[in-house]
Amino acid sequence: MNLTDIGQIKELFGRYGFSFTKSLGQNFLINPTVCPRIAELGGVDENTGVIEIGTGIGVLTGELAKRAYKVVALEIDRSLGPILNETLSEYDNIEVIFADVMETDLKRLIEEKFDGKEVVVCANLPYYITSPVIMKLLEDRLPIKAVTVMVQLEAAERICAEMGSRNCSALTAAVNYYAKPKKLFNVKPGSFMPAPKVDSAVIRLDLFDVSPFKVDDEKLFFSCIRQAFSQRRKQLVNPISGFFGIEKRLLAEEMAKAEIDPLARAEQLSMEDFVKLYRIVEQNKK
Ligand code: SAM
Repeated sequence: MNLTDIGQIKELFGRYGFSFTKSLGQNFLINPTVCPRIAELGGVDENTGVIEIGTGIGVLTGELAKRAYKVVALEIDRSLGPILNETLSEYDNIEVIFADVMETDLKRLIEEKFDGKEVVVCANLPYYITSPVIMKLLEDRLPIKAVTVMVQLEAAERICAEMGSRNCSALTAAVNYYAKPKKLFNVKPGSFMPAPKVDSAVIRLDLFDVSPFKVDDEKLFFSCIRQAFSQRRKQLVNPISGFFGIEKRLLAEEMAKAEIDPLARAEQLSMEDFVKLYRIVEQNKK
C-alpha cells in the first residue's frame, strides 16, 4: 500500500472510521521524498535502533524499519492501532507502543528494547509539544546519538540559530548545552495531510558524549539562561541582578572582569559567556 497516496489514505480512513484529532498535532506526511530523507539523514542503518515519536499511519515508521535494526514507535492515539496493524504488517522489526512520550521512561525503553545497539530518534513531531519533547530527550541524558525531527520552521530557526545572534533564545542555549544542532531542509505545508498553516523544517541534533561546558549546578545554569532571556531586548544585568539578588554594580564589575560586556543583552552572549555568567551568579547570589 502507498501511504503517501491521498486516495489510498482516504480509503483506509473510511474503512477504519478514522478522523484526525487536531489537538494531537496530526498532520501526516504525504510527500514521498520526505520520509526517506529523514531516515537517511537521521543516520539509520542495520546496526541502529530507532525511537519514533508519533507514528500516524506509519509512513515514516516503514521507511525507518526498511533501514534500521529495529524501530520502537510511541503513539498516543489508540484509534490508529487497527490501521497500523494493516499498514506495517510486512515489517517484523517494528514495535508500536501506545503511550504518551512525555510519560514514558525512555531510558528504560532503550535498555529493554535495543540489545545495546546505537540508538537515534527520528520523528515528525506533534508541534504542540515540540520544545518539551526535545528538552525531555536532552535532559533525560539518554544514550542516544542523534535526534532528527520535523518541527515548525520558526522553531527550527530558533533552535539552530547561532548563539550570539538575534534569533537565539533560552531554548537555543539549552539545546547547545547538550548537542550540536543543524537545520537540514525545509518542508512546505502541501507535504502534509491536512496541510498545516506554517512551513516546517527537519533538524538534526548530534548529542555530545560529554558536554563541552563544565557546569556543576545545571539547575542554576538554566535558571541564569532563562532569566537572561526573560527581558531579551534589555541589558541582562537588570533581570540577573534582580532575580539573584546581586547588586548591579558588583555584577557589572564581575562581568567586565570575565570579559563579558556589562551592557550586553542575552542574545549577544556565547555559550562560554553563559558559563562565565553562571559562575559569577553561583559565587555572588543571595
Ligand atoms: N509520523 C507520522 C507522519 O509523519 O505522518 C505522524 C506525524 S504527526 C505530525 C504526529 C503524531 O504524533 C500523531 O500521530 C499524533 O497522534 C502523535 N502524538 C501526539 N502527541 C503525542 C504524544 N504525547 N506522545 C506520542 N505520540 C503523540
